[in-house]
Amino acid sequence: MPMRKRIIAGNWKMHKTLTEGLELVEMLKAGYEPDGYYEVVVHPPYTLLSPVSKALEESEIRLGAQNVFYEDRGAYTGEISPVMLKDIGVEYVIVGHSERRKYFHEDNETVLKKVKAVLRHGMKPILCVGETLEERESGKAREVVARQISILKEIPVGDMEDIIIAYEPVWAIGTGKTATPELAQEMHAFIRDTIEKMFNREIAINVPILYGGSVKPGNVYDLTSEDDIDGALVGGASLDADSFLAIIKNAARKII
Ligand code: PEP
Repeated sequence: MPMRKRIIAGNWKMHKTLTEGLELVEMLKAGYEPDGYYEVVVHPPYTLLSPVSKALEESEIRLGAQNVFYEDRGAYTGEISPVMLKDIGVEYVIVGHSERRKYFHEDNETVLKKVKAVLRHGMKPILCVGETLEERESGKAREVVARQISILKEIPVGDMEDIIIAYEPVWAIGTGKTATPELAQEMHAFIRDTIEKMFNREIAINVPILYGGSVKPGNVYDLTSEDDIDGALVGGASLDADSFLAIIKNAARKII
């Protein structure tokens, strides 16, 4: 059985000018020592995707986008299509980030269309799921996450090998409040069980499930030591080369 993919992904969000972004990439390239365990991905904003793609040509660091529109082309002012992303070397696309759900009103239906569009063009969606503080406090965390995951029912079994899930409790994003490794593990195991019920055990075992929410060099080891945590989606701490490199270095290499 193939070992599931392990990923450390950096989501730059709406940060970095061209000069700043290229400087960060050069520092990451200089400091990154691939060991084959984690795939490392950076997700710059749209304006930087093409220059960062060129800068990463000789590197093992992969390129990801933070969003995509679901149509291939057309009169959709301001949108970027999966064709355009694929064309410039994007391999991963974050879909359904909680900030997109909150500020841009993306619902599960839209998120599903985007997941399908990414797959259609041979890229890998990183599907973000997670509950708000209110949902957790009212005991609805699992229900909310299960509903967000349920869109995958529409994905053909054969495409499931390209799906990555990121569990990002909304209350932990950019707040400095990290989920405890135990709490995160519990939800990751629940997500894997849910995938098993929807598909089968092999697909569940192979789907990478990343944790996101205030991941830092100091907490990444404990989080990624948990059985069902296969890496991290990192926001704030990916904007600084030293901290992102330390996260990559400190993340656990589990023997399985
Ligand atoms: C994110 O943007 O997905 C994220 C987890 O952000 P942060 O690490 O800053 O909490």
